Amino acid sequence: MAAKKPIIHCDALVVHCMDYRLQKFIQPWITVRFGYDNFDIISLAGAVHDYEMVLKYVQLAVLIHSIETVCLINHEDCRAYGRDGTYKRHKHDLMDSQFKIKALFPKLKVETFFLHLDGNFESIS
Ligand SMILES: [Zn+2]
Repeated sequence: MAAKKPIIHCDALVVHCMDYRLQKFIQPWITVRFGYDNFDIISLAGAVHDYEMVLKYVQLAVLIHSIETVCLINHEDCRAYGRDGTYKRHKHDLMDSQFKIKALFPKLKVETFFLHLDGNFESIS
């Protein structure tokens, strides 16, 4: 009989855009929130712009790491959105993703942020 694998766990999945301009803000923010090794992280162009892709990683992180929190971070001047990237659109997409994920995973805490290019993380709700 194979030895039972230990359960492995981390607190959160962080989803943010690939944009290099964000990195200097995101890394310290995550460390303050979740420490150095207590989170999964994915970097996708436009963050929640591709909801289906985000959902795949949420499902995976729940399954393999039993995460409790998802942080969705869109940002100002996101080139993956192009001209469609208005504040209103980002807010809509973040809230829509939050709503859909909560519907599928009622126990998950889903936090949404709009990251300004001055480093301010605006909580969206
Ligand atoms: Zn972006």
